[in-house]
Amino acid sequence: MAERQTPAIILTVREYGEADLLVTFLTPEQGPLTGIAKHARKSRRRFAHCLEPLSRVLFFLSPRRGRDLEFLQKGELVQSFPTLRRDLKRLGAAALLAEVAGLLAGPPEAYQEIFTALEEALALLEQGLPPDSLLPAFLLHLLGLGGYRPRLHRCVACAAEPGTPLNFSLPRGGVVCGACRQEAPGPLLPLSPGAWKLLRLAQDLPRHKLPRLRFPPQQRDQSLLIFKAFLRYHLGKDLKSWSFWEKVSRAHG
Ligand SMILES: [Zn+2]
Repeated sequence: MAERQTPAIILTVREYGEADLLVTFLTPEQGPLTGIAKHARKSRRRFAHCLEPLSRVLFFLSPRRGRDLEFLQKGELVQSFPTLRRDLKRLGAAALLAEVAGLLAGPPEAYQEIFTALEEALALLEQGLPPDSLLPAFLLHLLGLGGYRPRLHRCVACAAEPGTPLNFSLPRGGVVCGACRQEAPGPLLPLSPGAWKLLRLAQDLPRHKLPRLRFPPQQRDQSLLIFKAFLRYHLGKDLKSWSFWEKVSRAHG
């Protein structure tokens, strides 16, 4: 039986047993997978430069499909995004997008799109596009692909074009108008008209136009605060890479 191949983006790598590495990676056909790279710590030859988080690689898997664990036979590096790695802020945005893509990789019909969206975001960060604007735009895009599309166009309570002051309802996953604020299910987070307009625009644009959007600091911070709380509310946990992003983003303006 021939070995199987899959494009992959590395999500996490950790030591396993005496000599092995346990690798989680995103694929376009099967979403997120976990695989074991036997003896990879002793001999890196079969995985030269492949086992770095965020690298885009081609994996050769053992012929039989694993149940929980794939067996990685070898890997070939496709793109390591070296420029992105030298800039902490771009690295922080990339790590956050990769973690979200790995967590939201369902439903299966969305695997391919989620993989492509993450690959494009990494390539844009590598090219030097500003992480401050790419991060909220692509987080919103990934949420939509993963089945958590925030409802931004009409009030989730009364369905009217929402009037200020605007809020975002975490349980309802959308904008709440000023008139419905008292009755709407909370927690509610404030949403400024500026951030709301930008997010609506980001949601309406096709992906290839997202790099044109620019989020000023206030709109960026408010959007990210909402996404962070929204993900925590619906996934029941905090994302590991969020604190790294906040640290580097504070340190680098
Ligand atoms: Zn309303």
